[in-house]
Amino acid sequence: MNVHDSEQMAELLKQAGHEETTQEKKADLLIVNTCSIRRKAEQKVMSLLGRYRGLKETKPSLLIAVCGCMAQKYGDELKEQFPQVDIVVGTHNIDRIPGMIERVRREERPPAETDFRESVPSIGIIAPPRRGAVSAFVTIMQGCNNFCAFCVVPHLRGREESRPMKEIVREVEYLAEQGIKEITLLGQNVNSYGGMLKNGDNFPRLLREIDAVEPLKRIRFTTSHPKDLSSELMACFGSLNKLCEHIHLPVQSGSNRILERMNRRYNASEYIEKVEELRKFCPSIAITTDIIVGFPGEEEEDFRDTLKLMEAVKFDGAFSFKYSIREGTRAAAFEGHVDEGVKGIRLMELQALQERHTLDWNRSLEGRTEEVLVEGFSRNSGKDMTGRTRSNRIVNFPGSSALIGKMLPVKITEAHAHSLRAERTDEEEVPHAG
Ligand code: SF4
Repeated sequence: MNVHDSEQMAELLKQAGHEETTQEKKADLLIVNTCSIRRKAEQKVMSLLGRYRGLKETKPSLLIAVCGCMAQKYGDELKEQFPQVDIVVGTHNIDRIPGMIERVRREERPPAETDFRESVPSIGIIAPPRRGAVSAFVTIMQGCNNFCAFCVVPHLRGREESRPMKEIVREVEYLAEQGIKEITLLGQNVNSYGGMLKNGDNFPRLLREIDAVEPLKRIRFTTSHPKDLSSELMACFGSLNKLCEHIHLPVQSGSNRILERMNRRYNASEYIEKVEELRKFCPSIAITTDIIVGFPGEEEEDFRDTLKLMEAVKFDGAFSFKYSIREGTRAAAFEGHVDEGVKGIRLMELQALQERHTLDWNRSLEGRTEEVLVEGFSRNSGKDMTGRTRSNRIVNFPGSSALIGKMLPVKITEAHAHSLRAERTDEEEVPHAG
């Protein structure tokens, strides 16, 4: 989401007469868009700001702005700790950046803008696609009402707000007209979309509307909460041609005791039942997840329950992390913090299991023909092209830049843990998604 927030900021500043540069040393304004989800992300920002102090010493007219979750969390404290920072803008106030730049240029020192507003004006900024881009993000909602015990999002992004459906569909139509083939709908909890609109609009209805947009080829979304995964949404995977067969469905733990402490509002068997139902609607769906190890109070038995759930579901992929305290969340005050060494051992065991499952799924694709949306050159080789299958797997194959943006059938020849190798088939571009 932060990438898209940055794109929206760039568009906002462009409209206010600023020009973008990728060269730090040429810039008159540096904006650091921050994340507070994990402590590591915050540490990176601190060291970046340290480096920017050096740049400002050599160019005193340089302005430095900090936006996003850290700005929301620390407000004016950031300016006290890092006097080189001129502007601090929280998550609801991105639209105020141009005005704050003007104020700093008039040699004022505006206070941090961190108030929560009823509605977030920047949520609907349409960022034109980057040159040559084949996919784009569209924000459909922001904020979250769930208050999971470990998570800072409701505290730093505020309560849930959904954009009107018509506005979202218009943005998708515009992007498709600009040549975008694939859109990813973004929100902290997309499948609760519409709850606050009180007009009957909901996420499956939005998906059906977007599925009718031509010449769009693919729809993805992230992130979903298991408690809001309805049968109506599952049915969309079986019926909408453009909706890709992939869902990211964070489970976080397989232990009922820990899920309750996390305030996730489902238990392990309910999660597994939802996965089984989903696979009935769409047998080929790829399911990925997030898992936290070492949440406060997690005993060895709880961890074993997580491994059991992983065996039962057999995820296609998982982002797994050691729990880290986030100040202001309920879990920060919990007893029973797990030893870092124990967390490390559990994480390694869990990741080894996941790697086996991912590889098994990837191997099951060997010899099959898959549709790939070609994104560009592969990172590992200047000669190969890269793209993603509908199930969101990375595929590398020989080709040229002329293929970028095409939907190609490719034959999978080799499975690796994190990508697939493929060769071209004789078939031309896939004429229609689905
Ligand atoms: S649903 Fe997601 S964003 Fe909302 S509180 Fe829970 S983890 Fe955070």
